[in-house]
Formats: sequence, structure tokens, C-alpha cells
Amino acid sequence: MTDVKIRLFVDHPLGAGQSLVLDKAQAHYLFGVMRQQIGAHLAVFNGKDGEWLAEVTEAGKRGGSLRCVDLRGPQVNPPDLWLLFAPIKKARTDFIVEKAAEMGAARIVPVQTDFTNAERIRQDRLQAHALEAAEQCGGTFVPEVSDLTKLSALLASWPEGRKLMFCDEGIAGQADAQALLKAVGAGPWAVLIGPEGGFSAAERARLHAAAFAQPVSLGPRILRADTAAVAALTVWQQALGDWT
Ligand code: SAH
Repeated sequence: MTDVKIRLFVDHPLGAGQSLVLDKAQAHYLFGVMRQQIGAHLAVFNGKDGEWLAEVTEAGKRGGSLRCVDLRGPQVNPPDLWLLFAPIKKARTDFIVEKAAEMGAARIVPVQTDFTNAERIRQDRLQAHALEAAEQCGGTFVPEVSDLTKLSALLASWPEGRKLMFCDEGIAGQADAQALLKAVGAGPWAVLIGPEGGFSAAERARLHAAAFAQPVSLGPRILRADTAAVAALTVWQQALGDWT
């Protein structure tokens, strides 16, 4: 297989012989920053059609084009796992989105809980982080980052058949997550991580009463929300996901 150093997400159908027009930012990156020239090879993916080998056919300051040569690898989608998390400070929220994409979350949903400080998020910026993470980690799938949604609204219209791994700091060290997840079994799932202040008593009561929610512990120590997100996705992937 042709060795390539660059992977680029392109919002364009991919197929043998297909030509792709690059936008200004992509042209700047490929030709300005990475110094690629006509004839250079790179990998492209669009989140649907697998990974393709592409060749530079035009290279300019403000634009350029590529031609798809060969399929390099099939489309690989992650398991049907959502990450619900309460946005925290900007850098830590960016970290959570980047890590969730690397860890194979299929959808990332920022949620507003009783103790969430953030009133709004920059969905476009978070989506760009998820895309960059996919480019970097060799994935062919880019998780969608949703707009900020109220946790109460989400729970009130919870999708039928989806289970919720409720990471509950209130039972830290008391409930073996791996064993509980395996006992519930595979299928569509979501992971829920609370904010720095944790969940309110009302939220915890509601989640403990919900048939679709499985409360779990992430060990005896209280983790920061960003650590907890990565730890929870690890435990889920190992128990029910695509790690095995
Ligand atoms: N301030 C809270 C902790 C919040 S930690 C307190 O002191 O209780 C942020 C989030 O990470 C929590 O809401 C929970 O979803 C998750 N979390 C952190 N450590 C955890 C643990 N040991 N078990 C389960 N969830 C945990």
C-alpha cells in the first residue's frame, strides 16, 4: 500500500477516479503548511465511504484539487455509543470531545445539568475538534457533536431500547462497572458524565429510578469529569464495545 503521511477529511463523495475540489483552508494546509505538490499522495475520508488514496492534481494558494485513486480501507463505524457530558471549562471540554472521538463514541452530546456552569457551547468548534481527532487517529468515522441539550429533556424523551451507563460519583467504589455492563448486555448505549459539581440529589434520584439507566462506579477515587469521560469509555469499550 502506498505510504502516506497526511490524512484529510473531505466533505465530498469518494470513489475511483472521483475528483475533489479543495477549499481554501485545505489548500493552505496541504500546499502552504505541508508543502505538498502536484502528484503527491495522501489519504482522504468523508465519514461514509472508507479511506481512499488520493493524488494532488492541482495545487494553488487558494484552492486545488485531488483525484481519488484506490480504496485503502473500508468504512469502519464505532459501536452505537453516545457520550453525554456536562461541559466544563473550555480546554477540558475540548479535551473530552477529542478523546471521545478517539475512543470511538458514535455521537457526542453536551448536556446541561443542574450544576452545569456553561450556558452555551461553540458546537462548530467542538465538531472541528472531533474531526481533527478522527484525522489523527486513523478513524474513518466522525462523531456528530450535538448542540447543548438539557439533561431533563433528554431523559424525558429517552430513546426506546438505549441503555444509559450512569457514572455516579455517589456510589464511587461500590459497583463494578465491567460486571454490571456485561450483565445488562450489548446494544445501543450512552455514557453519562456529570459536571465538576456532580449531579444534584434530584438528578441522582431520577436516574436511579429510570429503568434504562445502570448506575456504575469508576473506582474508589473521584475523578475529574475529563478523566471520568475517558475512563468510562474505556470500561464500556472493553466490556461491550469494539476492543475485543
Ligand atoms: N464534585 C463531585 C464530583 C464530580 S466528578 C463530588 O465531589 O462528588 C465529575 C463526574 O465524573 C461525576 O459527576 C461522575 O459522572 C464522574 N465520576 C468521577 N469519579 C467517579 C467515580 N469514582 N465513580 C463514578 N463516576 C465518577
